Order: sequence, then structure tokens, then C-alpha cells
Amino acid sequence: MPDADLAIIGGGAAGLAAAIFAAEAASSGHRIVVLDGAKTLGAKILVSGGGRCNVTNQKVQAQDFNGSRNIVRNVLAAFDEAATVRWFESMGVPLTREPTGKLFPVADSARAVLAALLRRCESLGVALHTQSRVKEISPLSNAEGFAIRHERGELTSTKVILSTGGKSLPRSGSDGFGWEIAKQLGHTVTPTYAALVPLVLAPQMFHAELAGIAQDVELSVVVGGTRVDQRAGSMLWTHFGISGPVVMDASRHWTTASETGQQPTLRCNLLPGQTFEQAERAIVAAIAKRPKAAMLTHLATWFPERVAAALLRHTEIDATLPAGQLSRDARRTLVHALTGLVLPVTQHRGWNYAEVTAGGVPLSEIDYRTLQSRKAPGLYLAGEILDCDGRIGGFNFQWAWATGYLAGKAAGTVTT
Ligand SMILES: Cc1cc2nc3c(=O)[nH]c(=O)nc-3n(C[C@H](O)[C@H](O)[C@H](O)COP(=O)(O)OP(=O)(O)OC[C@H]3O[C@@H](n4cnc5c(N)ncnc54)[C@H](O)[C@@H]3O)c2cc1C
Repeated sequence: MPDADLAIIGGGAAGLAAAIFAAEAASSGHRIVVLDGAKTLGAKILVSGGGRCNVTNQKVQAQDFNGSRNIVRNVLAAFDEAATVRWFESMGVPLTREPTGKLFPVADSARAVLAALLRRCESLGVALHTQSRVKEISPLSNAEGFAIRHERGELTSTKVILSTGGKSLPRSGSDGFGWEIAKQLGHTVTPTYAALVPLVLAPQMFHAELAGIAQDVELSVVVGGTRVDQRAGSMLWTHFGISGPVVMDASRHWTTASETGQQPTLRCNLLPGQTFEQAERAIVAAIAKRPKAAMLTHLATWFPERVAAALLRHTEIDATLPAGQLSRDARRTLVHALTGLVLPVTQHRGWNYAEVTAGGVPLSEIDYRTLQSRKAPGLYLAGEILDCDGRIGGFNFQWAWATGYLAGKAAGTVTT
């Protein structure tokens, strides 16, 4: 008889959710064990949302994710954002919605989220083992479970849920090794890329002098003349380059193209919603009204003065030039910079700054109703280990809760 009925490898958001739903679905006496390599559980939950944990979003749809849309839709339908709200409420963590649509704990504390999950696991009798990094999993020879080799010894279990996360923030314990385990069990893993990651700009760009300024912009990722992504939102200039929600969301399109040798271009419209022609007309009209005003004075009515000055320097226009003396060519150069500024991205800021991973175990290799592996019966997968990543705003945790729910419910249900 195996040591455990269910072993959950990785006690992050998806693993803890899976443990809770498995224990709730199982009859008493079901032995559920969580094995995690980290010293303490939930590092990523604690740092999430700036320490406040953006638990979910008021509206979560398949189009908020990159991944096989039909499967994502079915998974989300099984445990939606309303279910997440009810679930956390039932664990003593009411959520509140911010104007952006993001939901946070009323207590404004990621610690409250983690504490509630751990409390619920303990009250359901789930055994939580830290410092138990799993190195290898192999099917038992009688095909009635798995042998799990971890840093403290070995364990056999009838079923296994693999919820080891991706590669983002490796110091949290999620360093991508889970994919090696998935491969040991017959799965493939699509190429993985940093997603939701700040972007580094070439040093000659003017970002450093604007550090700390946030602006609403429209970003487009262009590959070989084709726009592969376009979105609007807040961009933050930083000492290394750019960050902020719109940059984080666009980043996965840049990283995936760049790391497949496609040389993407990142274009920024500093006047979101305006075309070149509209912006040019507006500038011509403004100059006609105040031809003697300096170019900096004009531009500073549209942007913070530091941004205006940097843009003029970038386009080699004298900030003190009376606007009426601006040549047609210089005006067009300026309007090009305002509506299609090329941001010279050299690299992403690295896995230590990425919030999620794009790529992973293909969703086609699991049964979306149970998240059971199609390669190794008795194995289930949940969370970021799967090839699905959401945009910023609570979507990635919603994926973790929903996949944890499905995998936990299915793996906890005893079939005879
Ligand atoms: C800084 C930051 C902020 C974020 N903020 C938000 C937010 O506010 N809202 C949101 O929706 N998303 C946010 N995310 C994304 C979110 O944290 C992840 O999508 C989510 O945590 C993924 O859950 P998971 O359980 O699949 O993986 P993880 O949370 O990464 O958990 C995986 C667990 O598996 C363990 N593990 C790994 N390998 C092994 C092994 N071999 N053996 C045993 N254990 C192992 C790890 O120690 C870890 O505990 C943020 C991410 C970061 C990095």
C-alpha cells in the first residue's frame, strides 16, 4: 500500500488550492501530502501585488490568457472569479474590488491570503512538508501509483499533482525543475519565456532621466512588419528602461519573438488613440495659436516637462526654438516620435523580475475536465507549470485557483 493517497508536488497557490479541494472531496482518512522544496510555503503569494496579493479580477475571460483558448475557457468556467470570491470569503478572507477591476483582500495583506490557505490545509489534515524538493518521480512497477524521490527520502503515492510553478522568481523555489519531472513522466514542454517582465532599454535612450514618471501610452510589438500585439495603459520610465502594467503585458510578445530570433520592434504612441495625422493637425493648430512660444512650452502642455525636454533632445529640436520657426521636416520627425517612438529594448530584466512564465506543459496533454495527464494516468498538473499565462491583474492567480480546484477535486475523489 502506498504511503499516501495523494502527493502534491509544490505548495504554491495552485498546490495549496489543490490540497484543499482534494481534502474536501476525499473521504476522511485520505492521506494527502504536500512536498515543497522551499523553507517556507507561499513566497510568491507573499510578494504578489506588492505584498497585497491581487487574488483575482472582477472579470476573467479566456482572452485574458495566452494558451489554448478553448481549454482555458473550460477550466475558468469550472471555477470562476465569483467562486474565488466565495471561496476566500468562506476562509475568512473577504475580497474587495478596486476601480481597475482587481480584487484584493479587504485586509490589504497577502499574508492574510497565505495564512487562510495554510489554516484550511491544516484543519483538513493535509500534511505540509517543506524542504522536501522532489528530484524524481517514476511510476510504480505495479502501475498503482508513483515513487517520489525527494531531498529527505522517498515516498510512494497513489496519485500525484504536479504544481511546481514556472521559472519566474527562482529564489521563491520555482526554478523550472518541475518541467524535468513532467518530462520524466512522458510529457513534452514547449519553449519557455519570461512574461510580465520589465524591459531594459539601450543606455543611449533617455529613460534614466525620466525614472519615476508614469505615462499613459499605447505599445505595439511589431515583428517583420506585422503588429503582433497592441495595448494601452500606464508605462513607467525607470533607471534601466520601462516597466508598468502595459509594458509587463506587452513583454511576453517581445520576449517570445526576440528569443526565437525574430527581432521585434517595440513602438510607443505617447498620444494613445491618436494617429500621426491627428497628432500633426493638433500640433499645427497649437503652433498657429502661439507661434512665439518655445517648443518646450508647447510640448509641456501635453507631457510632464522632463518628458517634453527629453523628446525634443531625442528629435534634435532646440527646446527654446519659437514654435512658429519649426520646419516641416522637424515637425514631422517630432510627430513620428510622439506617435511611434521606437523603444530600443535590449533584453528583458531577467527571471528574478518576471512575474510569470510563458510556455510549459501543453494543455493538449491534459484532460481539461480533471487536469489529469494524458501521458501518465494518476498524474495531474495545475498552475503555472502548464502552458498558459495571463495578463496582469489577478488572472494568473485565478488560473492557479481554477486549475488547483479541478485537479484537487478529481485527484481527491476516490475511484474504485
Ligand atoms: C513578484 C510577483 C508578483 C505577482 N503578483 C501577482 C498578483 O498580484 N496576482 C496574480 O494573479 N499573479 C501574480 N503573480 C503571479 C503568481 O504569483 C503566479 O502565477 C502563481 O504563484 C503561480 O502559482 P503556482 O502554484 O503554479 O506556482 P508557484 O507559486 O511558483 O509555486 C510553486 C511551488 O512549487 C515549489 N517547487 C518547485 N519545484 C519543486 C520541486 N522540484 N519539488 C518540490 N517543490 C517544488 C516551489 O517552492 C513553490 O512553492 C506574481 C508573481 C510574482 C513573481
